[in-house]
Amino acid sequence: MTADMWDVIIVGAGLSGLSAAYLLKKRDAKLRILVLEGKDRVGGRTMTTEIPSANGVDHWDFGGQWVGSTQTHVLELIKELGLETYPQFNIGKKVLHVGGPSAKVRTYRTSTPALSPLVLLDFTQLIWKIDRLCATVCVQDPLKTPFAVDLDSMTLHSYIEQHAWTSELKDEMGLFSRTLSGMEPSQMSFLFFLLYAKAAGGVLRLLESTPGSAQELKIKGGTQQLSECLAERVGWKNVRLGSAVTAIWQDAEHARVTTATDTLLCRAVIVTCPPHLAAKIHYEPALPSQREFLTQNMPMGHMIKFIITYQTAFWKEKDFSGEIVAGSSTNCPFSATFDATSPSGNAALVGFIAGKQASQWSSKEAGERREAVLSSLVKYLGPEAASFIHYEEKDWAKEDYSGGCPVNVMAPGLLTYYHPSLTKPCGRIHWAGTETATEWCGYMSGAIQAGQRAALEVLAELCPTTLTQDEQEALWHNEAVNSHAQQTPSTNLMYLSTSKAVVITALTIGAALLLARRPNVLQNLKIYFTNVFSKTKSYTFLF
Ligand SMILES: Cc1cc2nc3c(=O)[nH]c(=O)nc-3n(C[C@H](O)[C@H](O)[C@H](O)COP(=O)(O)OP(=O)(O)OC[C@H]3O[C@@H](n4cnc5c(N)ncnc54)[C@H](O)[C@@H]3O)c2cc1C
Repeated sequence: MTADMWDVIIVGAGLSGLSAAYLLKKRDAKLRILVLEGKDRVGGRTMTTEIPSANGVDHWDFGGQWVGSTQTHVLELIKELGLETYPQFNIGKKVLHVGGPSAKVRTYRTSTPALSPLVLLDFTQLIWKIDRLCATVCVQDPLKTPFAVDLDSMTLHSYIEQHAWTSELKDEMGLFSRTLSGMEPSQMSFLFFLLYAKAAGGVLRLLESTPGSAQELKIKGGTQQLSECLAERVGWKNVRLGSAVTAIWQDAEHARVTTATDTLLCRAVIVTCPPHLAAKIHYEPALPSQREFLTQNMPMGHMIKFIITYQTAFWKEKDFSGEIVAGSSTNCPFSATFDATSPSGNAALVGFIAGKQASQWSSKEAGERREAVLSSLVKYLGPEAASFIHYEEKDWAKEDYSGGCPVNVMAPGLLTYYHPSLTKPCGRIHWAGTETATEWCGYMSGAIQAGQRAALEVLAELCPTTLTQDEQEALWHNEAVNSHAQQTPSTNLMYLSTSKAVVITALTIGAALLLARRPNVLQNLKIYFTNVFSKTKSYTFLF
């Protein structure tokens, strides 16, 4: 072996790449592993930065931040690395502004959004329908999902247009899509949306901050520590920063990985960068056309995340939680804000400018953007919002080697035709990254799961005895799925679901019309729904 001969080269030192490296090292300490990273830091789409705050500087996450107790892969890693979590603060009044600039700004204390009874009814029936479809999705092989082709032929937007009745709910669902993925509902396949929700355990998990949901907990000291600790365990000498991979060549004996300054030989490669960036690497021989077509057509979301620090958490003093949700038609630049007060008590708010608003506001002057954010905060939380200590923002579309965030999505028609090629190894090249995860795809936990799965694939080739029986079986299952996946014939989803939909719709509209004539019954209904939901769920409109 020469100095430039490695067993495994991993492209990308985000959570997926470093989790892969760590698992490889744990299974066989003799393996020569090199992680090549384009940025001058590890962590990828996680980034923890120090900014001025009430008591000196403190840390905030400008990339991935929340974890939930059902996200087993990230929670296990947090535990193993000796890090600690703390709950997201969500006590007090929440603010909801949807339906246009002149629409009423609502505040509510309950865990349900302050929707009118009719919209709440609409919300309930829509989520019920989506959740039922979600339950039918096969995450490992989406083509096995009943009516896969039909579901993949429509966008999230077209589904909402067909199945939501009120314009307020349509506005809300746009907000949801934007804050979830940085994309508009019109840009995403409905089947992809269902797959994404199924991988998280259901639609409501994406919305909520209740136990098990996506916005439940945060990591003390920030999420970038996960990657820093992993790099420490893998050995910093095995992680080369500022080393973007430009080409991967393969022949019968080796893979050859090139950066601007080096050519390195190895036995296996794990590529963990987001699919739209993996598509920019030159491959020789060329990758199968299905893979090329897929990755060239998976757009990345767009988000600008901001943190504003304050002397005191004035919103808490005024009995606000810090949670504001605002629709794109309200002239507010951000979609959502939350309390981001640090564990050491430094007051802060975190917010997201996302989707079409991110692309509109991204080209404006930073000062203009900041003023627009502040004036909306003043409008919703009061004049104290103007007296901040520090405003810091990160536009992920402008970040080299990320090119947007939080996740690549799939446009209609891609999943049903090209999905297997997302994870199917190409010779010595294996694919990871959160986009390839089957649990919590798009999240930090998914990034870890995908990295570990790719590491096991490589171990199966290089040192199969290190795999357990269960791991071998899981890999065989994946292989079988990849090689047998076929296009599901087009079906009559619309006809089959129409009769049920007509009955449900007729019953619900009838009930709504009846109730609309009796305002006190409406009020009772609102209280009833509020109680039912507050006993079971808490909705938070992010991730
Ligand atoms: C603003 C924002 C908010 C988010 N919020 C949450 C949240 O609350 N909870 C949650 O779980 N997730 C959240 N996410 C998503 C989460 O951060 C990602 O899912 C996760 O970090 C992805 O990890 P990864 O390793 O798959 O990809 P990445 O982190 O993107 O890692 C890929 C690495 O590859 C490198 N790279 C790219 N091209 C090359 C090349 N040619 N050569 C070498 N290196 C290359 C990149 O620099 C990067 O370091 C958020 C993300 C953002 C940005």
